[in-house]
Order: sequence, then C-alpha cells, then structure tokens
Amino acid sequence: MSETAIIVGAGIGGLCTALTLAPTGRSITILERDAPPPGDDPDLVFQEWRHTGVGQLRQSHAFLARMRKMFKRDHPRLLEDLLASGVRELPFQSMLTQAQLGSYRPEPGDAELTIITSRRTTLELVMRRYVETLANVTIRSDFLVRRLMTAAAEDGVVDVRGVSGECGGKTETLEADIIIDSSGKSGFLIDQIKEESAHYAEEQESSGILYFTLHYRLRPGMDEPPRLGNPPATGDLGFLKFGAFPGDNGCFSITIAVPEVEMELRKAILDPDFFHNLTLLLPGLVPWTNADRSAPVGRVHGMGDLISRWRDVVVDGKPAARGYFALGDTLVRANPLYGRGCSFAAASAQLLLATLEESADPTARALAYHKRLHDELRPYYINQRTQDRSAIRRARQALTPGFSKSVRARIIESFFEDGVAIAVRNDVDLLRDAMRGFHMLEHPNKWLGRPRNLAKVFYYWARGKKRNASAYPPKPGPERTEMLKALSLNFQSDIDRIAQGA
Ligand SMILES: Cc1cc2nc3c(=O)[nH]c(=O)nc-3n(C[C@H](O)[C@H](O)[C@H](O)COP(=O)(O)OP(=O)(O)OC[C@H]3O[C@@H](n4cnc5c(N)ncnc54)[C@H](O)[C@@H]3O)c2cc1C
Repeated sequence: MSETAIIVGAGIGGLCTALTLAPTGRSITILERDAPPPGDDPDLVFQEWRHTGVGQLRQSHAFLARMRKMFKRDHPRLLEDLLASGVRELPFQSMLTQAQLGSYRPEPGDAELTIITSRRTTLELVMRRYVETLANVTIRSDFLVRRLMTAAAEDGVVDVRGVSGECGGKTETLEADIIIDSSGKSGFLIDQIKEESAHYAEEQESSGILYFTLHYRLRPGMDEPPRLGNPPATGDLGFLKFGAFPGDNGCFSITIAVPEVEMELRKAILDPDFFHNLTLLLPGLVPWTNADRSAPVGRVHGMGDLISRWRDVVVDGKPAARGYFALGDTLVRANPLYGRGCSFAAASAQLLLATLEESADPTARALAYHKRLHDELRPYYINQRTQDRSAIRRARQALTPGFSKSVRARIIESFFEDGVAIAVRNDVDLLRDAMRGFHMLEHPNKWLGRPRNLAKVFYYWARGKKRNASAYPPKPGPERTEMLKALSLNFQSDIDRIAQGA
C-alpha cells in the first residue's frame, strides 16, 4: 500500500510539496486553516480572499528561476495555466543594460534564468486550482491543525503519527505515515517538537528592515514603461531600498524597504499619499507611478517582524522527530528582499521527495533530509544573513553624524560597488554566472570563486571609476536629508536618537 501524507498548510510550501509528491502515487491530504479562494478571477481573489494565515499575501512577490524551473520541468501544464491567468515570465534578456544588449548573444542556458512574476494571490490561486485536479490530492479548507499526535520512543525521539484539529466546529484526528509541516512563518506545530525533544535548535535575528507595499493599476491603454532608456526601477539609497514589481492583468506594485532605525519614515509611509509622493522623488519609479501611466490602489500594506531564522530538527546527529518534516518558512526564513522564500519552499519540497524515495526508514529519512537542507539551502541563508548584517551597519552609520569608515571597510565596499557590481553590469557572461547563484541554480558564491570570473572583477576594479563611468547606473534618488525635507519629515530626530545611544 502506498504511503499516506498529511500536509499542514496550503500555502506555497504545501502546494509545492503536493506537486512534488503527487506523481509518486502517495495519498495526500492538505489541511488548510483558511477559506478557499472566493472565485477564479485574479482581481476578485486579490480584493476579497480572506487568507490571514499568510500575512504577506498582498506584499510584492517575484518568483525566482529555481521555482519556475521546477514548474516547467515537472508540471508544464501548471506553467501554461499561470501564463493564461496573466502571470508573466521575465527573461534573462530583460535584466541586461543597454550596453550589454548590444553585445548580447543568446545562449541555451539563458532560458533557465527566466523568472515569473505576478500578484502573490494570482500565483497561489492558479497553483491551488492545479493541485486540486491531481487525483491523489485532497485539500480540506477551514481545517485548523492544533496539535501533532506524538508518541515518545525509548530513544528520546518523538514519533509523529498524525494531527488533530478543528473543522466546522468539530474536533478531528487524522493519522498518516508522514506529516509535512508547511504552516508558514507563524506556524506553531514545530513548538511542540521543541517542547517534546531535546534535539531541536533554532537561530534567529532581525533582517533590519520593514516592508511597505502599494499596488498600482495601469490606466486603460497603458503598458509598463520600457526597462531600457529609463533609470533602474530598483535601487538602494542606504536609508531606503525600492523596487517596482511587475504584476498580472495590468497591475504592478511598488515596495519600499525602510531600515528599522528610520522611525519617522516608517510611520509616515503608511499614508498612501505620502508613499505615492515618495515614489515621485525616485527617478526609477517615476515612469511607473506618474499619474498618466497608473493610479495607486488601496492602502499601504506594511509588514515588520522580518527575521532571518533557521531551525534544525536534528542536533548532534540525532533527530528530534520521526515521520515529521518541516519546510518553507516554518524551517527557514530570510529577508524578503532577496525573493527566495518561495524557492526555498519549492527546493525543500524537492529535497524531501529525494529523501523519501531513498529510504523507508524514518530515522534515516530525518537525518538525510537534514543533511540535504544543510548542503543545499544553508549556503543561501548564510549568504543573505551576511548581507543583512552589513546593511544594518550601513543604515546606522547613515544616521551617525561625522561617521567615518575604516580603510578596510572602504576597500571592501569599493570591491563590491566598483568591482563586482560594475563587472556584472559590463560583462554578460559574468551576469549569467552571478544570476545562477542568485536564482538558486548553483551555490551562491560559486560564480565569484571561479578564477576567470574573479580576474574579470579585478580587471574592472583596477580600471578605475573614470574608465568604467558608463557602467555606473544613474543616482537612484536624493540623499536622506534632501528627501526627508522634500517630504516635510523631521530628518534630525532619528539622528539625535542614535546619537543618544537609543
Ligand atoms: C513581505 C514579504 C515579501 C516576500 N516576497 C517574496 C518574494 O518576492 N519571493 C519569494 O519567493 N518569497 C517572498 N516572500 C517569502 C514567501 O512569502 C514565503 O517564503 C512563502 O510563502 C513560504 O511558504 P510557506 O508554505 O512556508 O508559508 P505560507 O505560504 O505562508 O503558507 C502557510 C500556510 O499554512 C496555513 N496554516 C498555518 N497554520 C496552520 C494550521 N495550524 N493549520 C492549518 N493551516 C495552517 C496558512 O493559512 C497558509 O496557507 C516574502 C515574504 C514576506 C514576509
């Protein structure tokens, strides 16, 4: 008889797990606390879906090549359904600068670097409708899982045999051979593992930013602005980062990430008029948000508690649980700026499949899954955390009067800004390699470790700013004081607060 699996949560991780496990013939039940989408129209679903289990539902999302690759290879019909619903593919070519386009010759691997982009509600709606058609998968909505059904074994490992929860006012207990916990960033089932076993470890720290998103709709007859010939629609001013996210069906969104220490800005930006006016001070966003092209829709969606978190359910070679597998945000969370969360979830579902197919022994499975996660996903987590720590330092420095960087810090900064970034903006092959790491198609640091690539970076760095001048992007926006003044904000109060050591 084939195995039975319960998946907790029909978010991105739960749906990806169903996609990967369904072809193996396992009998799969997905339990989801929230109501199903209220229809099939992406606009209606965006406006009306009450899906509070996903706090980031209406935040900007883009989906990396890693996730698209999985759809295209294993579920091409899903990719077709997504495109038919207005989800968009952005090819590698769309990332090139004007100068790079001149010398660009397509290569077979370029297609793999395509990303998909849409409102998150649209992607989740279409994924869910597709999963609903899979013969051995059942989705039960309005089912809140409250507890794991566990038994303590003599070896100190918790055996997980099922779940209990509430549906339609009734308590239900369901058993299965494997329980997959994809209940997202606020999922609490893993706390039970933590309480019942000693072989659990967790690390977490703030990613240092808050996210603010405002959606826009293109006016009738208008298209998105061309990428070439306009300043980049993403940028980093040190005291804020911004980006335009192409959406589906005439929609796009703007996200502004504000460092936690910028108290004045983070309060004011919740006002949609303030947010919109801020976009008009950023040359890369003006072509998108000017009144001739588009109009803002609804409120500003703000989000805090953006932590980086890694959890281990195996410690010192011993698993905390058997028959229990956590994936997606329950397992690893990272700064959303890198857009990797959904690909983390998709990749961990693939690692889980490889693990389950390799062995039927529950202990061996727990250990093998843990090893795969560490080998394949942890390097991305570490890479992002390192970048976050440096961004947090820079944000505080921006508020510290008279702050002067050490020589070492200046050299490192120059290596990345005047060497790596400029080389990648010049050389298409370098960009290709860098993107493979960014999109989780290979180890994030591998491209820079290749001697040929490093030599190119040093070449551009050594050439100096003058000879590289044409590769520098235009200034993304005003300095902090200038911008805060233009927005009638007190630019001094956060500086004073930091000076007082707060
Ligand atoms: C602001 C922000 C922006 C982001 N932008 C991007 C991006 O651009 N690209 C990207 O790839 N990722 C992005 N992410 C990350 C991405 O949203 C998550 O990594 C992804 O949704 C994780 O999938 P998941 O299945 O683990 O969790 P979710 O997708 O959150 O799904 C969890 C599901 O479990 C259900 N659930 C929870 N508890 C229970 C329970 N007890 N019983 C039953 N059901 C339950 C919830 O209702 C929900 O449906 C962003 C995250 C944030 C916060």
